[in-house]
Amino acid sequence: MFNYDFRLDEVILRINELNAKTIGIQFPEGLKIHAANVAERIEKETDATVLIAGDPCYGACDVSDTHMEGLVDLIIHFGHIEFPIDYKVPVIFIEAYSKINVMNAVSNSLELLKNYKKIGLVTTIQHLNLINQIKDFLIENGKDVLMKKGSGTREGQVLGCNFSAIKDIDADAFLYVGSGNFHALGITLFTEKPVFIADPYINEIRTIDEFKDKILRVRFAKIMRAEKARKFGVIVSTKRGQFRLDLAREIKKMIEEETREAFIIMLDNISPDLLLPYMDLDAFVVTACPRVAIDDANMYKKPLLTPKELEIVLGKRKWEDYKIDEIEHI
Ligand code: SF4
Repeated sequence: MFNYDFRLDEVILRINELNAKTIGIQFPEGLKIHAANVAERIEKETDATVLIAGDPCYGACDVSDTHMEGLVDLIIHFGHIEFPIDYKVPVIFIEAYSKINVMNAVSNSLELLKNYKKIGLVTTIQHLNLINQIKDFLIENGKDVLMKKGSGTREGQVLGCNFSAIKDIDADAFLYVGSGNFHALGITLFTEKPVFIADPYINEIRTIDEFKDKILRVRFAKIMRAEKARKFGVIVSTKRGQFRLDLAREIKKMIEEETREAFIIMLDNISPDLLLPYMDLDAFVVTACPRVAIDDANMYKKPLLTPKELEIVLGKRKWEDYKIDEIEHI
């Protein structure tokens, strides 16, 4: 029924053991399609009423415990692993491993990896249960496989904007198993090594190079435009895993020292419409999720920068040292 292992037998057992009467369930955007079916099964097999968290959720940085505090006995958060945050409501994290076959894509990646011996291997939580199988396969095919546990991550796991599992790995190239480009982009920018993507969802093997060039061109243009900005909005999210008010204060001070103006805006779900009213601001710096500025860049009329990009605008970092913004959560 599901393409993911939601471990519902275990979830239902736990709800019944706790005699929980109201349950919050939360899914990242890509898994919300399953929310109603999961709720239906929980309500059939327990005495609990389910509240589905409907607000956007892109990471474990965004557990809806503060919203649901006092309303639910327990939250089941699917699709991510726990962040080291003190949650306001008991939360059970269910990784939701994908049932998709990754080995075809991994096998097809050997051609692109043929000139590299030491391979740094990474994936997201959805395929982490297969990481040893992937590792063994690469070793059988003559590779040395390097993996590391990062701060708040398991061995070989990239987690959202936390790239600690790839730093200091002495690989010739990296293999990222999963969908999307953001993780692979971060890996290549942090390591300056070739990164190959084995995407099992579309069974495609690709390098990150073309995407990287495209993104860097866009980022360069945004930075150039922001150099003319006199007034900045510095956006802070209250989502607890993204909350960086101290950084926003530092940024405001840094901008003001350059005789420009900066104003802190509290905003959880950043969107072009919600920034439209700030007609007198010339550019924005996002201290919340680093993906907002990168993934949605073209949706915004004014430059939306990450804190590291602002450093370039203010002459405190060189363009050659461009890096993805990170929230390490520890
Ligand atoms: S802040 Fe980091 S972990 Fe959270 S959604 Fe954004 S990229 Fe993912």
